Amino acid sequence: MKALLMSGGLDSSALAWWLRPDLCVTVNYGQQAAKGEMAASTAICNAIGLAHQKIEVDLSSLGSGTMADKAPAAGGSAAEFWPYRNQMLVTLAAMLLMPQGVKEIMVGSVSTDRHTDGKAIFYRALDRTVSLQEGSLRVTAPARKYSTPKLLKMSGFPYDLIGLTFSCHVYEYACGQCSGCIKHRQCVEDAYGASPGGAV
Ligand SMILES: [Zn+2]
Repeated sequence: MKALLMSGGLDSSALAWWLRPDLCVTVNYGQQAAKGEMAASTAICNAIGLAHQKIEVDLSSLGSGTMADKAPAAGGSAAEFWPYRNQMLVTLAAMLLMPQGVKEIMVGSVSTDRHTDGKAIFYRALDRTVSLQEGSLRVTAPARKYSTPKLLKMSGFPYDLIGLTFSCHVYEYACGQCSGCIKHRQCVEDAYGASPGGAV
């Protein structure tokens, strides 16, 4: 069985459409946008007919930066930097899914990810660390070589479902102003054109 770590953003939604994993998992780890990510992930999975599981673990006391509504971490790479976030998410998903027989966890990192924990060298190390343990679970990032617009086009993700996706870093509803919302808008324009079918 293959699972996809899903935030409800463009990248994980496009991967869900493209690869149709056996199940998707969304983590509420106490991030500011958790309710929005959970609602978007649920809506996308329902729309395309994929099983969806949820994890609720409040780690907000350990967060930093805008996603935690806290001061930035010393040494952080961007305002939204949350220390050790991706290894935390993969570990939580693996703790839930390894006992269910899941053999692969896919993550939605893309080529434009700025953080070190979104890059190939990190995922090679994480895959090695996780897979040598019981369950031999693999960690993959199938879209790591593609930009978000390229992934949207290549996957054939329908424009009609874009309205269900959610990329805000700071609120339950898309604020339109944070780096997540701005990137979301730019990527949709790049992938579909500014006014596809006059719908925007
Ligand atoms: Zn926002």
